[in-house]
Amino acid sequence: MSTAARASTFTEPERPNDLLIRFITIGASFVDVTGTGEYSKDNRWHCTGCGDSSDCPDQDFLFRIRPDANNHAAACRAIPLR
Ligand SMILES: [Zn+2]
Repeated sequence: MSTAARASTFTEPERPNDLLIRFITIGASFVDVTGTGEYSKDNRWHCTGCGDSSDCPDQDFLFRIRPDANNHAAACRAIPLR
């Protein structure tokens, strides 16, 4: 039996204009990857569940941010509180 919350359990928050990727976490929160594009160095990720993020100076190219954001989504059990 899966312990992952269903995506339909919570409402998806509004999508920011600079949203590049949105991962759903196992706690049904979201990890948003935002920035200006694949080869920009201002991309970052932020978890809407636990508040963790790739704050400066960890901003980087999308191919470096993507696996970190996906790994956080696979591990984070925080549920959305709002
Ligand atoms: Zn989290």
